[in-house]
Amino acid sequence: MSAGEAFVTLATTDSYCMGATVVARSLRRHGTTRHIVAMITPNVSEQSRLPLKDVFDEVIVVDVMDSEDYHHLSLLGRPELGITFTKIHCWTLTQYSKCVFLDADTLVLCNVDELFDRDELSAAPDPGWPDCFNSGVFVFRPSLHTHTRLLDHASRHGSFDGGDQGLLNSFFSSWSVEDISKHLPFVYNLSASSVYSYLPAFQQFGHNAKIIHFLGADKPWNSQGNSSYSHNMEQFVSLWWKEYLIHTVSSAPVVQPKQEQKKLQ
Ligand code: UDP
Ligand code: MN
Repeated sequence: MSAGEAFVTLATTDSYCMGATVVARSLRRHGTTRHIVAMITPNVSEQSRLPLKDVFDEVIVVDVMDSEDYHHLSLLGRPELGITFTKIHCWTLTQYSKCVFLDADTLVLCNVDELFDRDELSAAPDPGWPDCFNSGVFVFRPSLHTHTRLLDHASRHGSFDGGDQGLLNSFFSSWSVEDISKHLPFVYNLSASSVYSYLPAFQQFGHNAKIIHFLGADKPWNSQGNSSYSHNMEQFVSLWWKEYLIHTVSSAPVVQPKQEQKKLQ
């Protein structure tokens, strides 16, 4: 057990809290030995916070408009980057020596603790532009120095896509060429879109999937009933719902016996 390392996710809305819960539950189901941390923003309702406290080791409230940080003040004119700055708060978690960030729209399918063998900044290629990494899954080292440098970079250069991914890719700009050990295999961040863009590869390698990323506008929590997901993705969407419903006691129409909970797949 290494208390010095943690998985971290982020939820700034009640819907993303549904996703965050599934991230944590799926990590626990597969026996992680690391801490699991949620960063939430003050607007998240009490109703959404309560279940998070059961499943996360730490729920940390981070304020997008932290007035103690002069960098934020200089960036007030860029409200669309709010989420970006909220995500990079993860570099302030210096109680941990190393962390793995997981978007709230990911689903963990097996134990992925070996990710902590990697160094900052490790991530998988983005399916849309593989010389960029996708920022839904990445390994990083919390550091106030890096955090300040990231904010400084953001205030001077902004983000080329308006989100955290553009900022992180321009900051860690040597990722694509420098060190192949920082390229995570794609199965650690298997996005729904790659099923359409390269179906034969999905058929060949998809069974090795370790982390599914429901990247894009369609999220599993919006999809019950009328899903636009392909047949191949449906299995993962239904797995997501099983994980969500089993552990959401108050709204769970389906409660499986305890001995069944280990084996959803
Ligand atoms: N996020 C959030 N609230 C939002 C949008 C995003 O908390 O309104 C967080 C959440 O952790 C999410 C991540 O930021 O997984 C990145 O956003 P998203 O996953 O929607 O982007 P995509 O992966 O589809 O590009
Ligand atoms: Mn995502």
